[in-house]
Amino acid sequence: MNDLPEIPTARREYTPPRPTKPPSYAGRQRLVVLGALLLGVGVGGLWFLVFQGNARTPAATAAAPSTTVAEVPSLDAPSADPGLLSHHPYAVAPQSELTAISRSPEKTVYLRDSAARQYTRMAAAARRDGVVLVPISGFRDLKYQENLFNRNVVRYGGVEEARKISAPPGYSEHHTGYALDLGDGKAPNTTLQASFERTAAFRWLKANAKRYSFEISFDRGNPQAVSYEPWHWRFIGDKGSLETFYGNSFTNEQPSDTP
Ligand SMILES: [Zn+2]
Repeated sequence: MNDLPEIPTARREYTPPRPTKPPSYAGRQRLVVLGALLLGVGVGGLWFLVFQGNARTPAATAAAPSTTVAEVPSLDAPSADPGLLSHHPYAVAPQSELTAISRSPEKTVYLRDSAARQYTRMAAAARRDGVVLVPISGFRDLKYQENLFNRNVVRYGGVEEARKISAPPGYSEHHTGYALDLGDGKAPNTTLQASFERTAAFRWLKANAKRYSFEISFDRGNPQAVSYEPWHWRFIGDKGSLETFYGNSFTNEQPSDTP
């Protein structure tokens, strides 16, 4: 058998042979009883196949419970450390509600229409104050987030570490189209770094972003226990965004109607 090279031949050869004896009279009687039982099982099985007419075999049915039992420990494992698993699930924004806020040969950054309008006004106001806001990342679909997360699992050596750096697919604020990562056009080496908090862009955002209904999502000591991200901001200026980030208590809030 050439297809079993990983099993050492010697080990199989040295398996001690089982002692064999010719069956005694009582042994032969047991064989007769066993044969009758097998015949019964065979007839019963045939009846089952003919009258049930079902593709599902008894063997498959019997195997199911043991599979379920085997999966329980792995499903329970994440809840052992809830402090690191506090990204919230978010719905993915429909393509029809996205507007480009920046275009470059490498990448186009999109936000939801309402957030895009306010971001454009905010970036223009910053520019008048001599500050260059650069959109690094806006809307992300599930596939993009999956690739990003898997890359971080490899880079940081596991799912737990990757969760501190980025959300798993389905759990990123970027799916909503209301969140974006911002850089400082005059300090590109601080992009997606904690040192972004020492840039003119960050100081300007801290002082002015709320006038355009943007807030920092993951400040120091945030209740979700996500790593501090001074570059990550979210829009909270209309009904959809408020419901997304603060729940249904804002249902009666008037949506922002600024142009
Ligand atoms: Zn972000």
